Amino acid sequence: MPNRMQFQHLLQQAIARARRSQRSLALLYLDLDRFKEVNDTFGHAAGDRTLEILSERLTRNLSKDTVIGRLAGDEFAMFIDDLPMDVDNRASIGNLARTLLDEISRTFYVNQQEVYLTASVGVAICPYDADNVIDLIRNADAAMYHSKQNGGNSCAFYVPEMNAAAVERLMLKSKLRRALERDELVILYQSKVDLRNGRVVGAEALLRWRLPGHGDISPSHFIPLAEETSLILDIGEWVLNRVCSDYREWQKTVPEPGRIAINLSLRQLKQGSFIARCRSVFRKHQVSPTCFELEVTETTLMTDPKRTIGLLNELYAMGLNLAIDDFGTGYSSLSALQQFPIGTLKIDQSFVRDVAVDSDDAAIVRTIIDMGKSLDIEVIAEGVEACEQLEFLRKHGCYYAQGRLFGDAMEASKMLGILSKQAGGAAHHGALCVPTVLRPLRLSS
Ligand code: C2E
Ligand code: MG
Ligand code: MG
Repeated sequence: MPNRMQFQHLLQQAIARARRSQRSLALLYLDLDRFKEVNDTFGHAAGDRTLEILSERLTRNLSKDTVIGRLAGDEFAMFIDDLPMDVDNRASIGNLARTLLDEISRTFYVNQQEVYLTASVGVAICPYDADNVIDLIRNADAAMYHSKQNGGNSCAFYVPEMNAAAVERLMLKSKLRRALERDELVILYQSKVDLRNGRVVGAEALLRWRLPGHGDISPSHFIPLAEETSLILDIGEWVLNRVCSDYREWQKTVPEPGRIAINLSLRQLKQGSFIARCRSVFRKHQVSPTCFELEVTETTLMTDPKRTIGLLNELYAMGLNLAIDDFGTGYSSLSALQQFPIGTLKIDQSFVRDVAVDSDDAAIVRTIIDMGKSLDIEVIAEGVEACEQLEFLRKHGCYYAQGRLFGDAMEASKMLGILSKQAGGAAHHGALCVPTVLRPLRLSS
């Protein structure tokens, strides 16, 4: 199979031919989804064999005139030339891509093991999307990346908006690598409030990237980038260290700063040495694991649940509390919930947003609160912004909440200010959490 150089050369000739004969040409760029996991799980020899079988399957399903090349490890490209101009060829190209994807998703048997694969495909068409080799490949690659972002196992056709996004992404990714070294990451704390008395009972640690010239970048933008590489492991460890060190500092003034929640990414949990690393960080900062809570999403729990149960049991045995983040948006089943040592459910903010006005959301929130009660799991509502939401939660017996209603996430020093003020006196959000019946009375009197 031609390599990248050879493929580019053939593509260049084909583009020249297409130009002369007023024909069109489609370039398909194919990249396997999560192929690294195959190498990591089954070893590189099995990975190589899988690629060989894959090449055979692809070749078998292409017509003789289609040129296919291997551009890099698990990246393949192929072009179909001599297509009619002034005709929309996308349906037939899309069908071909689907055939290839179906072929790839058939089980691979390698060394008596079953290997499952999917791929992402991007298509760019010459001369509409680009009329030279470099741009055509770049645009097909951007479209491929787009399919991957949408969960993989799919095909996308290039549109110009894709490239701007891809360039931005690449720039961010290389800057992110330096962010750790340059100390551009910060942790902000968002208070968690006990709605029965208005006390701040802890906080969630939220990561920010202070990129000079860009302002604060939200983790929803850069965590997925970090997750594509092992960078997420370094970032995760940095977060854990930062939070433990802040906590230790607070304890000098406030003996019991409450429980701090830390968000975990699936990649961290998958890391073989995760538990040992956690232990050593807690030991290094001389803080007790019982002061912390790890937040994982339902998707994280349900990926390889057998292994995850074992891991979570170990973390739980260390004294850590475990929370399911964004609860209600994923696919966890009740039976699974019972198997995991879960201490807290965090109701996703999408249900909280309209809880006071939308009866479906209200029903979901009430159900989660009741479920928590019967399973003896703490329930906390996320993203509380308005008094009406707070009233609803209190009325239905939800004991904990966090959100902008109680203020923005803040730096460690400000958090300490609140904690120490509260330690010496009244609950910080006491006024917000006085019983409903009293408030109108007070106002009118
Ligand atoms: P999450 O854990 O569900 O965090 C809640 C998000 O909702 C935060 O966004 C928070 O700023 C935002 N939020 C809080 N209160 C309100 C409110 O009243 N209204 C609205 N509309 N939003 C509110 P943020 O900080 O941008 O974090 C986004 C996500 O990034 C987090 O979702 C979490 O999954 C992830 N993340 C944050 N920090 C870390 C980290 O240290 N490590 C990892 N792996 N992921 C992190
Ligand atoms: Mg969270
Ligand atoms: Mg959440």
